Parts: sequence; structure tokens; C-alpha cells
Amino acid sequence: MTSPSVVVKIGTTSVTDAHGGVAQDVLDAVAVDVVALRHEGWSVVVVTSGAITAGWADVGEGRARPTDSTTLQAVSAVGQPLLMDAWRRAFSLHGASVGQVLLAPLDFSHRGQYLHARSTLQALDALNVVAIVNENDAVADEEIRFGDNDRLAALVANLVTASHLVLLTDTQGLLTADPRLDPSATLIDVVTSIDASLESVAGRSRSGVGSGGMASKVAAARMATWSGVTTVIAPAHEPSPLVRALSGAHDFGTTFEPRAERLSARKAWIAFAVASAGILRINQGALQALEHHGRSLLRVGVESFSGEFFEGDAVEIHGPQGEVVAKGLVRVNAESFLEGDDVAVHRDDLVLLRRP
Ligand code: GLU
Repeated sequence: MTSPSVVVKIGTTSVTDAHGGVAQDVLDAVAVDVVALRHEGWSVVVVTSGAITAGWADVGEGRARPTDSTTLQAVSAVGQPLLMDAWRRAFSLHGASVGQVLLAPLDFSHRGQYLHARSTLQALDALNVVAIVNENDAVADEEIRFGDNDRLAALVANLVTASHLVLLTDTQGLLTADPRLDPSATLIDVVTSIDASLESVAGRSRSGVGSGGMASKVAAARMATWSGVTTVIAPAHEPSPLVRALSGAHDFGTTFEPRAERLSARKAWIAFAVASAGILRINQGALQALEHHGRSLLRVGVESFSGEFFEGDAVEIHGPQGEVVAKGLVRVNAESFLEGDDVAVHRDDLVLLRRP
């Protein structure tokens, strides 16, 4: 996608109202911003949550929300068209068309499928249609579902090589502490690198109906900033939230600056999109060679491995202390690992994960 381009994700608590119905006014306000940005030359993809909540508001008859995933997935099938209808109405006020794209994790794992999803999103953009993306909740296998749209939005930002990702939510941004527990919590304006202490600041905050919380937003920001995408966590319920998040003034929400050393789209795909089929545990010498000399991982450096991986599958690489140090595409099958090629993971297919 030609820059500038933005993926904007709106969370369940922002998209739905107190009764769980679609908050048309919020969608209308986002559509105003999207249309204004498009006039300025931005490409925009919207990632929406809220299908399950809106669906339950429609069929739940006031009962408590179910917890079993099969029912929730079925309920999403009710809510998704309600959500799309609301998005269509919001954009039709400006004469803009919308298109629905539902993605599942497998669409990101299979490289062919991934490239195809990219072409579809690009073609919609070329047709001037606003793509509205959600997870394909109704059919995705529960075991492997994303479950939260923060990660999905970061993957979509990587997929379309967006310059920006905006996560609109029900807080002012990332705060120094959980404001419910610490009233002196203040907003962090800019984050230049995401380290463990920041991840702990994000904690495990969760709101009632959304599934992400701040930890999942920071994880999404990490994924996006590694792909070179500037990420902003900003409040949905303020005037012109998207335009203000993208103004560059750093006076609205929390901006995460992209990492200087940006991963290529393919390496970001290896690092964050494709699921791991196994683990290789490596020794100290191999770790040195990877981290300090940019070498490929040789079979002799692998102390042990687990998983049923085949050549070309993604594997996690664990260091001597059991920590995840890298991810890569393996060149040998698990079955014939010991007889295989000398190179277990070539450096072109390897991403080091420990650098902040
Ligand atoms: N895909 C879910 C839905 O539309 C939302 C996941 C989330 O809360 O991020 O209901």
C-alpha cells in the first residue's frame, strides 16, 4: 500500500453501548475521520470488534453472556452482520462503500493465503472501498483463534505494510499504573522502545466485554513497531480520535515509535504471524553465533528439540536458560533431524527476538 496508510482498530467496549448494541454514534464519528483522512491521501483499513457482544444483545434476551466458546462463536454470526450494517450506514453518509474481510489465524500462517489477503485488501483500496476487518469468529478453531483483535490489527498492519496502527479504546492510552488502583497514574505520551518493564506496566488490565486489555495492546504495539509501524493507543470517545491520533503532535494517546531496525515484511511474518510447529533448544555457543555474529543456526548447536515440524515450518528457538531467543523456518524435518542438512535454520529465515 502506498504510504501513508493506517490500520485503525476499535475495541468492543468502544463499538458497543451499555446494552451491548452497536454504538452507531461512535462508528459515525470514526467514519468522519476515515473519510477526512482519505481526502488527505491516506489509505485506511478498519479492524472492528464487537460481533459477539452485539450478537448477544440481539439474541440473549437480557440473560448473562454465555462463556462457552461454541455459543460465543455462534453468537458472533448474529452480531457480525449487525456490525457491518452499522459500518455501512456510517460510511454511506459520506457516499463511501464498505467491504467485509474476515480473517482467521491460518490466513496468516500460510504464506500463499497471506499474500492473497494482502491483494484483496489492496484491491479494495484501489476501488475506494473501506475494508472492515474482523476475525472470522464463527468458524475459526477455538484452539488457534486470535481471540483479541489487537493482535489481528497488528498483523493486518504488517500485511498491508501500513505506516501507522491506531488502537482506539476506552482509556486515554497507556498509563503509568492501573488508574483504578493508583489514582496518581499518568499518561505515557511516547514510547521509544518496549521492554519488560513497560510490559509489566501494561499489566493484565481487562475490561468487561473486550478481550484484549492493555497487555494485549502493548504486545500488538511491539509486533507493529518491529514491522516499522508507528502505533498509537488512543481514546475512542473523544472528538476526532483518529485524526488526532495521527496528527504527530504526541498530545493524544500513547505513541509507540517504530523500531529503527525494521524487520522486512517476510521476517515480521516469520516472527509474529506464523504459528510455531516446534522448539529447538540451543547451546551457548550457538546463541553467541546467532546474536553476535549474525550466523545461521547449525544442527550441532541444537541440544534438543520437540514438535512434529517439517521443512519450512516455523520453530521457536530457545536459549540455554529456556528463554525464547529467536524464531525461524527450519530446513529439516523433525523425523530426520539428525541426518538432515548442516544448517537447521538459515539466517535469512531467522529473526532474533531479544533486542528491545
Ligand atoms: N472478534 C471479536 C468480536 O468481534 C472481538 C475480539 C476482541 O474483543 O478483540 O466480537
